[in-house]
Amino acid sequence: MPELPEVETIVRDLSKKATGLTITGLRTRDGRVIRQKSISQFSRRLKDRSIESISRRGKAIIIQLGEGHGFLVVQLMMTGQLIYSASGTFGRDTKVIFKLSNGACLHYNDYRTFGRLQVVRELKEIPYFGRLGPEPLENDFTAAWLRKELPKRRTLIKPLLLNYTFVAGIGNIYASEILFASRIDPRRPAASLGRAEITALHRNIRGILKKAIHFRGTSMNTYRDAAGEKGRFLARIHVYGRENEQCRSCRARVVREFQAGRSTFYCPHCQR
Ligand SMILES: [Zn+2]
Repeated sequence: MPELPEVETIVRDLSKKATGLTITGLRTRDGRVIRQKSISQFSRRLKDRSIESISRRGKAIIIQLGEGHGFLVVQLMMTGQLIYSASGTFGRDTKVIFKLSNGACLHYNDYRTFGRLQVVRELKEIPYFGRLGPEPLENDFTAAWLRKELPKRRTLIKPLLLNYTFVAGIGNIYASEILFASRIDPRRPAASLGRAEITALHRNIRGILKKAIHFRGTSMNTYRDAAGEKGRFLARIHVYGRENEQCRSCRARVVREFQAGRSTFYCPHCQR
């Protein structure tokens, strides 16, 4: 599932390629991903609109349409892909193709069809944006803020990092990696973290997300960047998906456990 680094990679690439172009039309093969009253309304609100900017908030891609025509919001959810391509042909998992004024196309692919595409006048029409916590790479996400918030939370640290109302954009891969780098056991209550641990956690949240952006994300399964290429962070993963493999730091076996319905991977020796 694409998290902040993967979505950021897509957004940066697409910004370069598609900003200033116009959506000249679209073709839909599977309308289940379109969260509009009707597919024809969705098409009407996009046709002949220019692409003013492409940005990200949390794990959502925000395509701002020109002349106050609102926003196309793309939430990739589990297996969504947004790929810029010269081809106008539907691939196996292509649900929607947006035709662009330079002759290229944007393909929305989604193997499991959990993604969401929606045109809105204002972002607040989508409840997700109203509930989103701070962006971890913005300046207002500070260690001081974490020191103030963590003691108030009656939950374990790992599910808290996954909670998008607490902090935006972190999913299962990076939550596991951040806690490993911080040497914090994912089963610890959030309120039990000491000052030095919170400082380390803050540093690693920002450090690991930035590093993952640098390597263009993690292609565990279906994630692809806007050119259809895999990210290169997988080789830098320490615990996620490495159940029973040796910890790269101490050679103990990495453990997998279920927490709040999600897999959590950690090193019982390195993480306390
Ligand atoms: Zn270890």
